[in-house]
Order: sequence, then structure tokens, then C-alpha cells
Amino acid sequence: MNPFEYLKPSDARAALEGIAMPTPSNAWQTPPRFVAGGTNLLDLMKENVVRPSRLVDINRAVSDKVEPMPDGSVRLGAAARNADTAYHAVVSTQLPLLASAILAGASPQIRNMASNGGNLLQRTRCVYFYDAGVPCNKRAPGSGCPAREGLARQHAVLGASPHCIAVHPSDMCVALAALEATVHVRSLRGERDIAFADFHTLPGDTPDIDSSLAADELIEHITIPPSGQYAAHSIYLKLRERQSYAFALVSVAAALDLDGDGRIRSARLALGGVAHKPWRDLSAEGLMTGHKPHTDLFEEVASTVLRSAQPQGVGAGNNAFKIPMARRAVVRALETAALGTVTNTGDNVR
Ligand code: SF4
Repeated sequence: MNPFEYLKPSDARAALEGIAMPTPSNAWQTPPRFVAGGTNLLDLMKENVVRPSRLVDINRAVSDKVEPMPDGSVRLGAAARNADTAYHAVVSTQLPLLASAILAGASPQIRNMASNGGNLLQRTRCVYFYDAGVPCNKRAPGSGCPAREGLARQHAVLGASPHCIAVHPSDMCVALAALEATVHVRSLRGERDIAFADFHTLPGDTPDIDSSLAADELIEHITIPPSGQYAAHSIYLKLRERQSYAFALVSVAAALDLDGDGRIRSARLALGGVAHKPWRDLSAEGLMTGHKPHTDLFEEVASTVLRSAQPQGVGAGNNAFKIPMARRAVVRALETAALGTVTNTGDNVR
């Protein structure tokens, strides 16, 4: 591993100053990085994908708490661990969709270490991205995208570009997208809230950029607005190559708010494993408003969500199977949510 400086500041301002401090200009080094759990960043460093000149440890600089707020929202500290978040009483009772999504991800050991802020910023698991010996537009812009003619089973069917077909690997983020979270960030220039829909970006012609977070900004916390209306009818459905410790081929976060007559007052739907960001389609959600849950309705929703889906890759490595898989997963998730919340406790992956 390459040498790097290490700082552990005790507040956010010192952390931001630590990132902004000049570093020796060694051509082989990459810019300083914040680190919390390090469950993805250290992999990237060991694989020589990034070579930060300095790590600024933010574990004492930002909150590690999960806090219910007076207005009914829930604030997740950026340094709070994924496991502590999922098993927190407020999250498991009021936000079962979020708890289930977190517990569908990674392994118990990784969830014990991984932070909420880091979960948002984890990089794609495209195998070419992690292999510094091959081209990759995300790692080295302009070098090419071998996934387009290689192994693309894990890759995008929505929102891809000629420059990159990678997907965002997070489960937690799919639920946060469905729940319309906001991300609170701070820099030495000030602070701002980013709507979750605007946080992650599509690859376009800048596949090296994953989010709208600026290099000098620090995630302080994530806020989920009051979402109790969805607690009784939600599910995070994750389809993957094996039952534990695997990234989603397709995942669906579905939540319904039903009135006393059983009609859908509002619906939330987000897909994972299919795009460079959690995929949400407001027009598909709107189709459900005012209707009673029904398979025909949910099939129309699924067709709407996937209307622009395109397979990627060639030969045995192509991912055309994901499109019908996603269509069936949407229908199954909505049908299941209509019957009542299904909670993933994480027990199946211990
Ligand atoms: Fe790199 Fe994206 Fe292509 Fe993977 S899909 S090889 S991350 S450019």
C-alpha cells in the first residue's frame, strides 16, 4: 500500500481544514479523502484504484447517532454504523423499509463497521473498475469501458451511457431514495441540503463522477422525513446470485400508504442494481394513486418503470435477463407490500 498521512480531528471544521490543507505534489497520489468505516475505501487503496495523500478520519467529527426529531423525521449521523442504524428502535419500527434494506447488504461484520455516510459514497463493484491493469472510464476517464463488451451481468439496464454502464451497489440508498431522504453536507464555504434524488448522478460523459457532493464537502447527516404512513406496507426485495454477501442483480424498495378502503393514497418505488443511481420513476408511482392494489395495475407500473431499459454487454456476459427479472420483481414487491410489511432482520445472513 502507498504511504499516506492520517488525521483524526475532533470536529467538522478541523476535518474540512484537514482536507483543504496542501499536500506534497506526488504525481502518483490522489486527493485527500475522508474515511469513517473504510470498508470500501481501504479496498480501493489496496487495489491501487485510489492513492490518497491523506486520510481524514471523521469518526469524532460528525455524529454517530440515530435521532428521532421533534417533527417526526429521523436523522442518521454520517458516522453511525449501518448495523446500529438498522437495529435502532426508531428505524426498525418506523422505517422497516430502511432497516430491511440495510440488513440485506454486505455481511454482519461489514455492517458493524460501515458508516452511513460511507454507504452513500461507496463505488461501483464493476470488476474492471477494481483492476488497475485494464482500461476503465470511471477510474481513468477516456481509457474505455471493457464492460460493454465483456462481463456485464451486474451492470445497468437503465440510465447507462456509452462511457459507463456501472451500477451503484448500495441497498440502503435504494430505500433512502424511496423515502425521499435529504443529505446534509458542510464545507468551509457553508452548508446545504441535497435531495436524495439529486445526490447520485448518471454516468453521462463524466463517468468518473458518482455524486453531486463536491470534493471539499463532508456529509454530516441524512434526514428521512416522517414516513409512518408507509410502515405497515413495505418491502425491500433483493434478488442476487446467492443469498448472502452478494450485490443485487435487481432490488426493489416498495412502500404503499393505503386508506381505510384499501385504496393506495400514495406509493413509493425505487429500484437498485439497474442503474448508476437508485432508480425512481414518479410517473410509475403516480399510476397507483387512488387505485386498489391489483396485479394488472402493478404490471403496468413495472412496464412504465422499465420502458427505457436496454440490455448491455455481449454474449454470455450480457444482462438482458435483468429486464424481465426487474419487471417481475416490481410486481412481486408491490403485491407483497400490499399484504403487509415484510421485514428482513438480517438473520438469514448470519
Ligand atoms: Fe469502468 Fe464503468 Fe465501464 Fe465498469 S462500466 S469498466 S466502471 S467505465
